Amino acid sequence: MKDFRTLSLEQLEDFFVSINEKPFRARQVYDWIWSKNAHSIDEMTNLSKSLREKLSEHFLINPAKIHVMQRSQDGTIKNAVRLFDDSVVESVMIPTAKRTTACISSQVGCSLDCTFCATARLARMRNLTSAEIIDQIILIDKQSREFHQKPLSNIVFMGMGEPLLNYNAVTEAVRKITENTGLGMSARRITLSTSGIPKMITMLADENLKVKLALSLHSAIEEKRRRLMPFSVKFPLADIMEALQYWYRQTKSRITFEYIVWQGINDGEEDIKALIKYCKKVPCKVNLIQYNAIDGGDFRQASDKAVENYVRQLEEHAVTVKIRKSRGADIDAACGQLANKH
Ligand code: SAH
Repeated sequence: MKDFRTLSLEQLEDFFVSINEKPFRARQVYDWIWSKNAHSIDEMTNLSKSLREKLSEHFLINPAKIHVMQRSQDGTIKNAVRLFDDSVVESVMIPTAKRTTACISSQVGCSLDCTFCATARLARMRNLTSAEIIDQIILIDKQSREFHQKPLSNIVFMGMGEPLLNYNAVTEAVRKITENTGLGMSARRITLSTSGIPKMITMLADENLKVKLALSLHSAIEEKRRRLMPFSVKFPLADIMEALQYWYRQTKSRITFEYIVWQGINDGEEDIKALIKYCKKVPCKVNLIQYNAIDGGDFRQASDKAVENYVRQLEEHAVTVKIRKSRGADIDAACGQLANKH
């Protein structure tokens, strides 16, 4: 038995031909799955009952379901989403006055080892399928309509996992969301966040997907970044920069650097200088994100004064910088806190 949604339109056509059916049936099924979000074969009422029965012998649909939903005082909603194999990922809906953003997961757990991130500690690990990625988006779109009377407007791949290490499913999901699902979402409203894998950034640049790219930098000093993100020993900052410059040449889309300032770790003058120097090499902006404490970690958010020092000096050097406030921390829904407490 295969999940229908793992097949391309062409593969579906081949299947219908192989059972002596007309190839246009593939388009009908495809519309049910992707435009009408059907979750069972029986919903496909423009197919005959016997054809539906025949399909049921070969295919099924395994939708992701909300297992637990938590609402934060600030309106943020965190969903524990259960997949067909009982794996759980988390997806977050973040409402603001103007828009609703879905923060979604690309993997169950994460294979990287960022020392400050709760997701890195999860043992279980697998890639999500494109359908599982899309299901999270559809679920959050529904919640946005229900709780905020408006559709989902933005998507960030900033939940669990490293999207560029699940490259095929993530790019396929982006294509389907922007082309097929009827969400009418423009790729420019989708941001892919990566911890920095140069080869994959280059590959994505050639994909012509029109998504935005964010890079989790946290330090522009090599040894420091390595301590914070040990896997990055394989990906030096210079290689990342080369990939980012290539990205910009290909897409003309400016990169966002995500950056946490920690007390006593990267709140010094040399850290700011290194960051400014790095930023000068490619069109970019900096989001200073608030650190969210995780259990048992030694990290502490730097003082407001230290953060303001960053802002002042970046601005003096004409680097665009924003302080990004944390949402949903009271329900462990904030960046770096997604760890399946259920
Ligand atoms: N693997 C991708 C996608 C995850 S995005 C990436 O690293 O970009 C999640 C963002 O939250 C990243 O910028 C990450 O560095 C940041 N983050 C991780 N732990 C955090 C924490 N405890 N507090 C605040 N931000 C955190």
